[in-house]
Amino acid sequence: MPVRYAPLNPPKRLLLGPGPSPVEPRVYEALSKPIVGHLDQYFFEIVSEVHELLRLVFGTQNPFTMAISGTGSAGMETAITNFVEPGTRVAVFANGYFCDRITDMARRQGAEVVRLEKPWGEVFAPEEAREFIYQVQPQVVAYVQAETSTGAYQDGQAICQAAHEVGAVVIADCVTSLGAMPVEVDRTGIDVAYSCTQKGLSCPPGLAPITLSERALERLQARKSVNRSWYFDLKLLAEYFGSARRYHHTAPVSMFYALREALVAIAEEGLENRFRRHQLNHRAFVAGIEAMGMRMLVAEPHRLWSLNTPCVPEGVDDARVRQRMLAEDGIEIFGGFGPLAGKVFRIGLMGAGSTQENVFAVLASLERALRAEGYHPPASGVEAARAFYEQYALA
Ligand SMILES: *Cc1c(COP(=O)(O)O)cnc(C)c1O
Repeated sequence: MPVRYAPLNPPKRLLLGPGPSPVEPRVYEALSKPIVGHLDQYFFEIVSEVHELLRLVFGTQNPFTMAISGTGSAGMETAITNFVEPGTRVAVFANGYFCDRITDMARRQGAEVVRLEKPWGEVFAPEEAREFIYQVQPQVVAYVQAETSTGAYQDGQAICQAAHEVGAVVIADCVTSLGAMPVEVDRTGIDVAYSCTQKGLSCPPGLAPITLSERALERLQARKSVNRSWYFDLKLLAEYFGSARRYHHTAPVSMFYALREALVAIAEEGLENRFRRHQLNHRAFVAGIEAMGMRMLVAEPHRLWSLNTPCVPEGVDDARVRQRMLAEDGIEIFGGFGPLAGKVFRIGLMGAGSTQENVFAVLASLERALRAEGYHPPASGVEAARAFYEQYALA
């Protein structure tokens, strides 16, 4: 009997969760272009355009900037395996889930991890960051710039300054900020920044951009032990993606096409315009949430523009609300987990997903689902967001 499978026909979803974010048609088109070999001259032309454009979105002049084959976690693992050896003292700023993943990866490499804890959703003030770093005297400091589990943005200037004073390199997780908010690697002083393709860059998941400062490169060159990871060894990867062009692994050629196209779209929009768009839509969304009688988990100055965490109203089952939104409107949002399980919604407005139309759509869908679950907002979120846009246009 012949084997029969239905044609591939994914459901239509509006992806407004913590990632993946919506992908534009031009990026899908790039994915369908014929591949060339992973050592082809044309492939390396695309690679060098990707590197150049990544410097732009990272806010860096770092020559050592590349895309690791794998998702955001591959970027994290690359940062950890190259800069953490057995016995390395690592100071981790712990205020959400992804700091825990960094901790886990560092411990697997034999690091001595010291953590400064904060409740999820809060951020570290410059003074306490300094004090912690001086007390620990680490070789590596790690923090999450955009904590997707909580919606909080951690400023890194004080962290980087103190870390450099004690001779440490700083790893920053920029997975949910890259392409949506200023990452400012050079201005902040970050030594190793990594990200992914499927959040602020609006590309499918599959590559992990990474960039290394001069200080990080020196640390890498001075490393005595061999990296226990072969795949993520930056010294080997530099020989592939650098001028030697020596085969290391078969790069996912189509993903490089897609990332190239997503980055060109960003350059065409203009970084400043893109950030302004994300900030504006985030603020309109918050105006809608507050009009609906809900509050945001994160204090006003520390909110991500890319990922919003409104608190679930008392007595409402967030899973039922999310199921309704998916079933009735095809909108994907996420809930909280860990200490925030059942307490927040996680709603992404990132990359191509950050539009006025989507702000209205998600607020309307959320309001319908909340009403069906017995919560009655005192005012319309959509109307409040509309008023916000009008006021902004007049200003
Ligand atoms: C999504 C995310 C990751 C992991 O990325 P994957 O692409 O899921 O492997 C790491 N850090 C943060 C802050 C994230 O949001």
